[in-house]
Amino acid sequence: MTLCEDHTMDAGDGLSKALNPGLWDGFLKGSRISCARLITAVENSPKHLSSILDRLYPLQKGAIRVGVTGPPGVGKSTITAALTRKAREAGHKVGIIAVDPTSPFSGGAFLGDRIRMKDLVGDDGVFIRSLASREGHGGLSPATPYVADVFDAFGMDWIFIETVGVGQAELDVLTCSDVVIVVLQPSTGDMIQALKAGILEAGDLFVINKADLSGADIMRDSLRFIFEMETAEGQHISPPILTATARDDSGIEEVFAELGGVIEKLGQAGRFLDKRRERIEGEIEKTIRQSLWASFLKVTGSKAEIEAEARDCVEHGKSPFPLIRELCSRIRLEPLQE
Ligand code: GDP
Repeated sequence: MTLCEDHTMDAGDGLSKALNPGLWDGFLKGSRISCARLITAVENSPKHLSSILDRLYPLQKGAIRVGVTGPPGVGKSTITAALTRKAREAGHKVGIIAVDPTSPFSGGAFLGDRIRMKDLVGDDGVFIRSLASREGHGGLSPATPYVADVFDAFGMDWIFIETVGVGQAELDVLTCSDVVIVVLQPSTGDMIQALKAGILEAGDLFVINKADLSGADIMRDSLRFIFEMETAEGQHISPPILTATARDDSGIEEVFAELGGVIEKLGQAGRFLDKRRERIEGEIEKTIRQSLWASFLKVTGSKAEIEAEARDCVEHGKSPFPLIRELCSRIRLEPLQE
C-alpha cells in the first residue's frame, strides 16, 4: 500500500468480485470500496477487462484527462495537488493516477509532502490511485487508460495522470491524456533532458516551477524562443508558458485559469472527441492484434518453433523469412510485404 493512495482498496478479493452485481450496485451508488475493487480488477485481471469495460463505457461522461509530465523532482505532485484543490473549489471531482515512482502520491514522499497531501486524502471528491510503471521503460502502466475509464464512469470530472517525462512515458501520456502539462524547473540540465526526451512536443501548457529559485524567467524566455522558432517554421503554435512556486501556491491560480482556457479552446476545436476516437481506434487495433497473434500461435502450434528459429537465425546468420512464409502458408495467409 502506498502513501496517499485510497485505502479502501481490497486487493485480495477484488478480482473474484469483479463481476459481482453487488459491486456494480455499490459502484453506481458512489461506493469508494467498489470503485477501488474495480480498479484492482482492471489492473490485475485481463480476463475480466473487456466485460468490465462493456459496463464502464456507457457510464462515462467524458472527464477531462490531464497528463502531468516532467523530470523527477520538478514539482509535478505538488502542482497536481495544488490544481486539485483549485478544481475542488470550482466544484469538480478529481481522480489522480500517479505512475511516477518518485511521486509522493506513489510513496516516495518526505514528511512535509505527506502533510501537505493529507487534506486531499480525506476529501470524498478526490480519489488517488498509484500504479506501478511498466518495468524498464519508464512508461505508464498498461492499466492507466482503464483506471481513467473507471474514474470517468465513477463521476470524476477531471483526471490527473502524473508520470515521469522520460523514455516511453511521454508518448504514453500523450495517448492517455486529453491535455498535457509539462513541468520543468530552472536548470539547464532539465531543459536539455526535456528536449532529448521529446517532452516539449507533448505539452499543451508549460509550467516552470520553483520560481523561487533563480533562473525561472531565463528558462521561460528560452522556451519561448524555442517555440517561436518552431512556429516560424510552421510547425506548431507556441503553447502558454507560466512560472509558479507550487510549494507556496504562488502562480497556481494563474496555471489553473490558463489550464481552463486551454481545455476550453481544445474542446471547441474538437480535440477531446478526436482523442477519444483515437483511443478507441487504438484499443480496437491493439486487442485485435493480440487476439490474432494468440490465434495464430494456437492454430499453427508454432510458439516453440518460432523461438527455436529465432535462436538459429542469431547463431547461424539465417533469414527468418522462409519460416515466416511457411507459417503463413499453413493458414493460407500472404506475408505482408512493405
Ligand atoms: P515530482 O517528483 O515532480 O512530483 O516533485 P514533487 O512535487 O514531489 O516535489 C519535489 C520536491 O520539490 C519536494 O520536496 C517539494 O516540496 C519541492 N517543491 C515543490 N514545489 C516547489 C517550489 O515551488 N519551490 C521549491 N523550492 N521547492 C518545491
